[in-house]
Amino acid sequence: MTAKYSLGKIGKLKITAAPSAIGGFILLWPVFSLLGLKVFRLRPRQALTGGLLATVFHFLSEIWHQMGHARAAEQTGYPMDGVHLWSVLGTSIYPTNEPELPPEIHVERALGGPRSSAMLALAGGMFALVMRAFSPLGFMLGLLLALENLLVFTLGAFFPLPFMETDGTTIKRYRDTHRKRMVIIQE
Ligand SMILES: [Zn+2]
Repeated sequence: MTAKYSLGKIGKLKITAAPSAIGGFILLWPVFSLLGLKVFRLRPRQALTGGLLATVFHFLSEIWHQMGHARAAEQTGYPMDGVHLWSVLGTSIYPTNEPELPPEIHVERALGGPRSSAMLALAGGMFALVMRAFSPLGFMLGLLLALENLLVFTLGAFFPLPFMETDGTTIKRYRDTHRKRMVIIQE
C-alpha cells in the first residue's frame, strides 16, 4: 500500500503509481482486446494492439482528468502537488499543510477534472467519426476514448463510491457546507 513508483513530472505535478496500477493495466488490456475482437471485429493481433493502446489511453485519460483538476487548482491559488495512480484510477494529491479552504475553492478544483474529460470525450467522438470509414482500429480507439471520458471520467466522476472520495462526493460535501453557511448568514 505504501509502495510508490515515481513516473516523473508533468509541469509541477509529480506523477506516482501504486503497484496496483500494474494490476489495473494487466486487467484492462485483455478486457479492451476482447472488446476489439468481439465488438469491433478486429483480427486477433489487431485486437491485442488495440487493447494495449486503449489501456494506455485509459491511463492518459486519467492523467488528463487530473491535469484538469490541476489547472483549476492553480487558478484558485491552491495548486495540486501531484497525481497518484492506483488500480485503474487516480487520486489528486494536495499539499498536506493546506489551511482550511472555503467550500467554493474545493468545488472549483473538483469541477476542473470532469470539465477537461468532457472535452476529451468530444475529441474522441470526432476522431471516431472520422476514422469510421477508414480504420476499424482507429474507430475503436476513438469510440472507447469518447465513451470512457464521458461515462467514467465526466459523468462517473460525479457518482459517489464507497471506497474513495470522488469529485461528486467533494462537490456535494462542500455545497452542503456552503448552503449551511448561507442559511446561517441569512438567519
Ligand atoms: Zn476528478
